Amino acid sequence: ASGYSLMRDPRHNKGLAFTEKERDAHYLRGLLPPAVFSQELQEKKLMHNLRQYKVPLQRYVAMMDLQERNERLFYKLLIDNVEELLPVVYTPTVGEACQKYGSIFRRPQGLYISLKEKGKILEVLKNWPERSVQVIVVTDGERILGLGDLGCQGMGIPVGKLSLYTALGGVRPSACLPITIDVGTNNEKLLNDEFYIGLKQRRATGQEYAELLQEFMSAVKQNYGEKVLIQFEDFANHNAFELLAKYSSTHLVFNDDIQGTASVVLAGLIAALKLLGGTLADHRFLFLGAGEAGTGIAELIALEMSKQNGNPIEENRKKIWLVDSKGLIVDSRKESLQHFKKPWAHEHEPVRELVDAVKAIKPTILIGTSGVGKQFTKEVVEAMASFNEKPLIMALSNPTSQAECTAEEAYTWSEGRAIFASGSPFDPFEYDGKVFVPGQANNAYIFPGFGLGVIISGAIRVHDDMLLAASEALASQVTEEHFAKGLIYPPFSNIRKISANIAAKVAAKAYELGLASHLPQPEDLVTYAESCMYSPIYRTYR
Ligand code: NAP
Ligand code: MN
Repeated sequence: ASGYSLMRDPRHNKGLAFTEKERDAHYLRGLLPPAVFSQELQEKKLMHNLRQYKVPLQRYVAMMDLQERNERLFYKLLIDNVEELLPVVYTPTVGEACQKYGSIFRRPQGLYISLKEKGKILEVLKNWPERSVQVIVVTDGERILGLGDLGCQGMGIPVGKLSLYTALGGVRPSACLPITIDVGTNNEKLLNDEFYIGLKQRRATGQEYAELLQEFMSAVKQNYGEKVLIQFEDFANHNAFELLAKYSSTHLVFNDDIQGTASVVLAGLIAALKLLGGTLADHRFLFLGAGEAGTGIAELIALEMSKQNGNPIEENRKKIWLVDSKGLIVDSRKESLQHFKKPWAHEHEPVRELVDAVKAIKPTILIGTSGVGKQFTKEVVEAMASFNEKPLIMALSNPTSQAECTAEEAYTWSEGRAIFASGSPFDPFEYDGKVFVPGQANNAYIFPGFGLGVIISGAIRVHDDMLLAASEALASQVTEEHFAKGLIYPPFSNIRKISANIAAKVAAKAYELGLASHLPQPEDLVTYAESCMYSPIYRTYR
């Protein structure tokens, strides 16, 4: 290969880091300026450039350009500066990127499968240049973050998630495949935009939708085999629950909005018990929001309670209450409830407002998953603080503007007694001379390590017990030092080590359940997981 094509290939390009020897051996002389930089110096320069941009979207575009130009340097940067760059390549900035995808779109990333490809999906998959794909993240763009239907522009999400699979979980970039399924959009603005990149028609539903998804799922299995992990991402809840139920017995599927969220929140709760005391079943939970996140979390909590106390899950569910847009979910509403809400319709008189539900249920733990900001009002937080010494409050709705309350509000209104975590990051806050560091219940703690565990064990199905194993592994990474600051999640700076631990626990569970196909089982799974992780350090070309 000529030096020129080596330089143009993002997987091989090293830019100024090509050594004198490599420049001689690979016909690169003269194609580069004379200076030779180390990867560290390149990193320093890029971080300097990136910090010059004040607009987050500019940073996002700069990162995407780097990924297209020099893949290893992109991952080196992301890994070494994870706390700073996570919000750039992922939420919240990725949301804005999706909204403006049409205009920042340069070279297409990932695979687009639209209704036009019906009957030809297998051929489309064969157009993808990589053969050994291990993880697919797929969206249909209908519920992007808390931003709604962005149609084909949802592609930013699978692309971003997969870059985290590599950076945080160590899955090789070539093993990652982002896919957007375009069945149209109901977003009027996009339908009327002459530059919209997707199909200009309203969303296909019902049989037409189901058939396209069925063809896709079959084609993936046929092309990549049984061990490819298919992560559903940002589907609207009416499809998300159905797809997960339909394919979980025939495919290796995982829904991050339902299962990943559940696992990361459960981890925070398990950790928080060290501060709160008692077992999970000793607590009473109230959710604002009963969608993918809310009911997914609720179900995993009930399952973990059952593992711990041996009681039937129906019993344990009674300790968990949910409020949706119509008020508290109670038995008298059962007839008209969507099926995923039915298990939560407990006996109680109707309650319309959240604050009244809080006063009636007296939860010890309050969790916001409504997608609507400012719902944990002063009155709500004060009520929580009136009957709990340490009220646990999780404001999970993203992005920041949608958080149910801010860290400052939770600490102030509870007079410094709340334990607080949120979906979007908040800065540390000082109250009464003490600095509180809010934890971030970010799914990025779980899915990369979870996926790595599935891959290294060769698991062929996802089992709920593997999610519980991931939660326990994450919770065990929270130390006394973190608790002292009010944290119920470990800092992100150690994420590769955390991911290796999660992967090991998930893999061990897959072996235990007989779902692992990679035999024999490696002796030390943590060491094995670490040894499988992708390294972004440049290779030497001879
Ligand atoms: P979803 O499936 O659409 O569910 C939203 C739920 O909130 C529905 O049950 C809805 O009620 C309810 N709701 C809407 N407005 C309400 C209001 N004013 N009062 C009470 N309930 C209301 O969405 P999702 O996937 O669960 O996501 C919800 C939010 O959680 C999003 O903001 C997302 O960013 C966030 N999230 C955070 C994390 C994390 O922090 N790690 C992970 C996942 C999701 P109806 O059912 O009556 O319509
Ligand atoms: Mn999501």
